[in-house]
Amino acid sequence: MVWYQDGSTLRRPALNTSVAAAAPATAEVSALRDLILRKLTYTLGKAASEARDRDWFMATALAVRDHVVDRFLAQMRDRPAASGKTVYYLSLEFLIGRLLRENISNLGLTEELRAALAELGVTLDQARLAEPDAALGNGGLGRLAACFLESMSSLGIPAFGYGIRYDHGLFRQIIREGWQQEYPEDWLTFGNPWEFARPEIRHRIGFGGEVATENGHDGEPRHRWHPGETVDAVAYDTPVVGWRGKQVNHLRLWRARAPDPMRLDAFNRGDHLGALAEQVRAEAISKVLYPSDDSPAGQELRLRQEYFFTSAALQDLLRRHLRAEPSVANLADHVAIQLNDTHPAIAVAELMRLLVDEHELPWAEAWRITCAALSYTNHTLLPEALETWPVPLMERLLPRHMQIIYRINAEHLDAVRAAHPGDDRLLASVSLIGEDHGRRVRMGQLAFVGSHKVNGVSALHTDLMRQTVFHDLNGLFPGRIVNKTNGVSFRRWLMQCNPGLTALLVDALGPRVLDAPEALAELRALAGDAVFQGRFAAVKRANKEALALRIREQIGVRVDPGALFDVQIKRIHEYKRQLLNVLQTVALYEAMRAQPMRDWTPVVKVFSGKAAPGYHRAKLIIKLACDVARVVNRDPSVRGLLKVAFLPNYNVSAAEVIVPAADLSEQISTAGMEASGTGNMKLALNGALTIGTLDGATVEMAEHIGCEHLFLFGLSAAEVAERRANGWRGETAVAASDCLGEVLDAIGGGVFSPDDHGRYRPLVDSLTAEDWFMVAADFDSYLAAQTRAALLYRDPQAWRREAVLNTAGMGWFSSDRSIAEYAGEIWNVPVAP
Ligand SMILES: *Cc1c(COP(=O)(O)O)cnc(C)c1O
Repeated sequence: MVWYQDGSTLRRPALNTSVAAAAPATAEVSALRDLILRKLTYTLGKAASEARDRDWFMATALAVRDHVVDRFLAQMRDRPAASGKTVYYLSLEFLIGRLLRENISNLGLTEELRAALAELGVTLDQARLAEPDAALGNGGLGRLAACFLESMSSLGIPAFGYGIRYDHGLFRQIIREGWQQEYPEDWLTFGNPWEFARPEIRHRIGFGGEVATENGHDGEPRHRWHPGETVDAVAYDTPVVGWRGKQVNHLRLWRARAPDPMRLDAFNRGDHLGALAEQVRAEAISKVLYPSDDSPAGQELRLRQEYFFTSAALQDLLRRHLRAEPSVANLADHVAIQLNDTHPAIAVAELMRLLVDEHELPWAEAWRITCAALSYTNHTLLPEALETWPVPLMERLLPRHMQIIYRINAEHLDAVRAAHPGDDRLLASVSLIGEDHGRRVRMGQLAFVGSHKVNGVSALHTDLMRQTVFHDLNGLFPGRIVNKTNGVSFRRWLMQCNPGLTALLVDALGPRVLDAPEALAELRALAGDAVFQGRFAAVKRANKEALALRIREQIGVRVDPGALFDVQIKRIHEYKRQLLNVLQTVALYEAMRAQPMRDWTPVVKVFSGKAAPGYHRAKLIIKLACDVARVVNRDPSVRGLLKVAFLPNYNVSAAEVIVPAADLSEQISTAGMEASGTGNMKLALNGALTIGTLDGATVEMAEHIGCEHLFLFGLSAAEVAERRANGWRGETAVAASDCLGEVLDAIGGGVFSPDDHGRYRPLVDSLTAEDWFMVAADFDSYLAAQTRAALLYRDPQAWRREAVLNTAGMGWFSSDRSIAEYAGEIWNVPVAP
């Protein structure tokens, strides 16, 4: 079979990349070496003797990009064969990370490239580590979008990802004396070798202005929006290479440019700043990613970002459609548009505007097409995180869209009234306009009403959606809500980040495990095999040594690779309960000091994660973790049996080092508050045991792995709801606990903050009062689960068996499985066999 074509040669990649590691063909290695050298010389204008690692990375990436261009162009040229349908995935965030290793691995070029670079006197890691980490996202939602794009390419689904090409991605986190400081991130400083700038692909995006009403030729009124301001969206395309290089899809990111570069008249008058004002205002839209993952920014610039990329995406896909089809009437037969959260929810009104105002379709037909084309993924139930926009802001910025939303709402409420006469509570609940805090457009309701399917991201989250935020809409549109449990790309989160484990799996299960993750289940038969356990443990040990080295280099803390590596890596948020983990750390520290003679399990606590810059409580929790680390790491009386490391600047590249090295995975959110989690999946796949609550997708992990193989603890989602309803107070838990009171006294009394005794008083007080996140409520149960984990770790064979069983149970959590479900049940597109 022909895998891909580059230039005139048809070639087929070696079976696998780093793993099967057949010696690369010398002709190919020389060709690659020469290509890299040509890129270095003629594109970058550097002599090999002068080249730095960054130059080698650039030259290598450009050479690798040449290998995908043919298939990349084929996607643009050829209509998708079987169904004629393309998926458009709209997301304000794509948390991509580095691409070199992913691309060469998926192309089967790793060994060739390693050899080619070696001939040039460069190691693959030198080039690889010089790539900046593309952090165009905050956390789970953006990383999901990146995994999904890769899976769509791997499954041969023609797809475009649409988003914003931010000049500055998520801030760089520096920890100074325990406090988080934010610095701008600069991924584009030295250029981005993966992308193709497309200055000719450009769409006009309007804001403000007025709506004129005319009589159309059919006698119906026609509305024309005359924006007061326009901004151009310019395309930048990045190839998304699927596994084994099958399909190369597009990640098309939009950059905002002013239609006129400057006001020359103002400049000539000497008003140099005024001459550039419009340009600055326009380009602010793609300047920087909003650094908040779970609360809406609520600012006008954010709404401008959302409309900007949504409108560009819809105009773009309509233009593409009309190149192949005579009209927009059959749009929904050829496109499936997925809205990743409510950030692109304005698509409902924008698609209606384009179809009705610009393409002159009757309203009812446009509405049918819109609902058939769109679908929406909900990512959070936190009431404070549900996006709403003030009506006056919408009327000013998007006047025509506001009219359209009013009409959609009027027809929607008429239908509700007809079916449920006199039910004003129901009307208020399902209206697209909320009246609670001034009149606001509810983007979740808008996305729900304008979509044919709405999905949650884990079984529990989808159930809670039906019971809470969308309870009433679910009653009106039964069957519209479906579940699509998240997954992660096994290429990135197993094969690329953990080549040692991948090689072992291929050896034990055969190379088909690389294509068929369900084969992981066959590991169960090997879980008790001492020889296999030993090899599994050796891989883990090597990964832990690599992490230990990184910890020492980054923060100067020495850790024992033989200790239990207990890892919590994710955004810092009260509901994710890093605080609970810190409290247990303090409890363990106090116990070790009180009973130095006991046979303690050595533990390394690894924390990493960023806090939203305005989220003071989260920043205080980082400070507490660092304060505790400082005291514990220096205390000779614990004899190095407990170490605490807060690693700064968590991102995808950091995760790729930490995940393969973890023994214990902390998934300890307040039950009912984590929609899915994907960090939980990455860690278990790499053989970490989970200590966790029954929340998000951890529930399904427990089902697939077997709940006796996780350290489950704590209140269930229903119990949390019940306590909150009954006025729970944390002091009840303190009174019942043997050690929680002491831990809180130590923290609240300044044991870890001698420079500021009162620093943590408010934190501690919130736990004895309402304890909204049930930290005090779950403490004893968590402590007991930690004790079980520490005990099990003392029995290496038993621990290894559990670790193998965890990896064995994770096959279902591949994002390929998630995407195949979206394809079948939401998009109606076939998946290549
Ligand atoms: C996977 C991932 C996340 C999501 O982690 P959760 O534990 O699911 O919150 C966030 N950030 C990065 C960099 C990731 O790789």
